[in-house]
Amino acid sequence: MAQLRIPGPTPCPPEILKAMARQMINHRGAEYHEMINDVTAKMKQVFQTKNDLYLLTGSGTGGLEAAVVNMLSPKDKVLSVSIGVFGDRWATIAKTFGAEVVNCKFEWGTAADPAVVKKAIKDNPDIKAVLVTHNETSTGVTNDLGAIAKVVKEAGKLLLVDAISSMSSIDLPVDKWGCDVVVTGSQKGWMVPPGMAMVSVSAEAWKAFEQAKIPRFYWDFGKAKSYLEKGENPWTPAISIVYAFSVAMDMILKEGIQSVFARHAHIGQMTRDGIKALGLPLFAEAKHASNTVTAVGIPVGLDGKKFRQLLQSEYGIVIVGGQQTLDGKIMRIGHMGLVSEKDIKDLLAAMKATLPKAGFKG
Ligand SMILES: *Cc1c(COP(=O)(O)O)cnc(C)c1O
Repeated sequence: MAQLRIPGPTPCPPEILKAMARQMINHRGAEYHEMINDVTAKMKQVFQTKNDLYLLTGSGTGGLEAAVVNMLSPKDKVLSVSIGVFGDRWATIAKTFGAEVVNCKFEWGTAADPAVVKKAIKDNPDIKAVLVTHNETSTGVTNDLGAIAKVVKEAGKLLLVDAISSMSSIDLPVDKWGCDVVVTGSQKGWMVPPGMAMVSVSAEAWKAFEQAKIPRFYWDFGKAKSYLEKGENPWTPAISIVYAFSVAMDMILKEGIQSVFARHAHIGQMTRDGIKALGLPLFAEAKHASNTVTAVGIPVGLDGKKFRQLLQSEYGIVIVGGQQTLDGKIMRIGHMGLVSEKDIKDLLAAMKATLPKAGFKG
């Protein structure tokens, strides 16, 4: 069986896979009502929020689109704080629906500087919302979201957060930081297969919702709200994913969210230390290195593609390369969700044995 060390989908514990083998139930019946209410309440503990929270059937990108269509009107000005591929994708979504996007881009491998974000908001006082990625999966960088949130909320702007690859793995206290819409996805740190996006919606976000004019139907937060009041979703939900969440939420809360975050920090540090010990460069600036995904530079001489192929064929370990302009320049190791010390030790040992076979001279 392949060992998936990629930044989503992540491996699922056997209990979760077993839960998903269950027969379907009526998604308009009492049993489903109870299950979705229970999962939603438990998920709010992980989001550290009292805000409304919805499970939307779709992938994480659907959740990002939902945030755009429910919060904005065509021609609304938004600030896109981007440090990589996923930050850029969200800006593209906003542009696609007619928003006027002001770019605040930072060099890939670095984090966003809150002082620069503050200045960008000051220079564009008419912006309505700020789009920010908590953990940029394409570069292995975690933004200082607490500091960014502070400057955004001090300026009275809406804060929309892509936390797809951080929520449930890295501390993100939604209410404490004042995040208005926060998006995540089932297949990242939640240990659940792909199929659902989860979004939290603040009171301020609901006010923006009332004003927002971009056409919406499938992703309409208003419909999600009125249906959840009766323990339902507007459309047929991915019921098997909700089964999976019933088990996953109990596992995460039993361990305790602070322990889960600490475990990810430990595994992240162990991965970075191991990569450095192999003589390979880390792509992300050390201060902001992600605890869910590590980006590794490909040094001269190393054939990155051949290296990854050998890891898979000889050890059954799957890692991924870089996206867009980072193709051929980095490789990425996912370590969110169900990843043990042994998994990382096995990966590092396999890398050590494979590096010379792919041209690495050390
Ligand atoms: C994975 C990911 C996405 C895209 O999610 P999909 O589920 O593939 O649509 C967006 N943003 C970040 C930060 C991600 O890690």
